[in-house]
Amino acid sequence: MAEKFDVIVVGAGPAGTACAYTLAKAGVNVLLLERGEYPGSKNVMGGVLYRKMMEDIIPEFYKEAPVERPIVEQRFMMLDKESAVTFSYKGLEWNQPPYNNFTVLRAKFDQWFADKAVQQGALLVNETVALECIVEDGKVVGVRTDRPDGDVYADVVVLADGVNSLLAKSLGFHKEFRPDEVALAVMEVLKLDRKIIEDRFNLEGDQGCTIEIFGDATKGILGTAWLYTNKDSLNIGVGTMLSGLIKHKIKPYELLEYVKQHPMIRPYLQGTEQQEYLAHLIPEGGYNSMPQIVGDGVLVVGDAAQLVNAIHREGSNMAMTSGVLAAEAILRAREANDFSKTMLDSYRVNLLDSFVGQDLKKYKDATHHFEKFPHYIEKYIPMMNRAASQMFTVDGASKWEKQKKIWRDIGSAGDKLKIARDLFQAWRVMK
Ligand SMILES: Cc1cc2nc3c(=O)[nH]c(=O)nc-3n(C[C@H](O)[C@H](O)[C@H](O)COP(=O)(O)OP(=O)(O)OC[C@H]3O[C@@H](n4cnc5c(N)ncnc54)[C@H](O)[C@@H]3O)c2cc1C
Repeated sequence: MAEKFDVIVVGAGPAGTACAYTLAKAGVNVLLLERGEYPGSKNVMGGVLYRKMMEDIIPEFYKEAPVERPIVEQRFMMLDKESAVTFSYKGLEWNQPPYNNFTVLRAKFDQWFADKAVQQGALLVNETVALECIVEDGKVVGVRTDRPDGDVYADVVVLADGVNSLLAKSLGFHKEFRPDEVALAVMEVLKLDRKIIEDRFNLEGDQGCTIEIFGDATKGILGTAWLYTNKDSLNIGVGTMLSGLIKHKIKPYELLEYVKQHPMIRPYLQGTEQQEYLAHLIPEGGYNSMPQIVGDGVLVVGDAAQLVNAIHREGSNMAMTSGVLAAEAILRAREANDFSKTMLDSYRVNLLDSFVGQDLKKYKDATHHFEKFPHYIEKYIPMMNRAASQMFTVDGASKWEKQKKIWRDIGSAGDKLKIARDLFQAWRVMK
């Protein structure tokens, strides 16, 4: 007779492990399936992990988890070809508990987190691919795996299998995502002596810094590049909408090379040695692209449910919160001994009510708006750089004259009106 569990969770990323941990802690018999050699072995992240959502699951996790550096400074760079306007916030309140966020390397972090779920009683099985859901009378009752005699059964199956979620697709919950709903990101982990990192980024001890890079880094395509500090390595990456890469006929690794060689970025990377090269899709369709996430005996969480806030580079936190909310809905369903779609729907309701649903709703039109109007990147960021250069160059011209020149540089009255209209539109989609 095939094995039966209370719950099967497919995928040991932040969403699946958060769900498995919460269920196992409540005494539920959970099977956590992972296709990789170990959790994290196939996972990619820029690497900022948000403290709050992780601490809701494991209080003071940072005392033992393999975090790299607490972030004390967040810089934002508006890049032109040979210049950058940069602003930042640095706050030492972020260098002590409760902290704000940390850089992590997913290969280490996911493994540690999954071990915690195992300690609570979850059964983790690695190197096992869930091929499809087993459906009986319209209800999901288990999964078929690639192991011999690999059918396993459960009252509920949680799909935490990441951005493409082939399992949710095979249930008809979503179609193939369009190129304007996903970003393709490539990144490298570059080894660098920790003392050099601290000197180069103006950090003391374990403090960390993140730099988000906009403008010329993506050659006009909607997206961002980033440079983050780990203990003794840097993460450099660039992610752009797949539709933009196709339209501009640019290969992602060429874009990453361009970022690395950019005169504003190159000095940060001197003396580094490549440790890893990674590529992954990011679901950026947001609220409008959310698939069906509840069915009879099945829930969809994390990237598989398109839960990423691309504007604020948040994904791992949304994944964890969705995993916890799914677990809570399952616990309620167990009490009622009812695993129907109607009973499990409290997951969807609570998710949409939480910061996850609210933030996705807030920015629901932002990505498409900025993709439709590339001049935000192509025109306005260079304009901002020219204005800064003009204002800060001391050449004997009065500041009044400089202001007039900047104003002239913006263009005709019609151009100024257009900018005002664009800024208003940007405010509308971000408000
Ligand atoms: C380049 C990049 C940078 C990012 N930067 C950030 C950041 O700085 N901060 C942030 O919060 N978020 C970031 N994100 C988003 C974040 O990584 C995701 O939102 C988050 O990992 C989603 O977690 P998840 O558990 O839903 O999916 P995943 O982390 O993708 O985990 C899915 C798991 O399922 C497994 N799996 C898949 N299919 C199967 C199957 N059929 N059978 C068994 N196992 C399966 C996979 O191996 C994997 O372990 C970034 C993403 C990328 C790609």
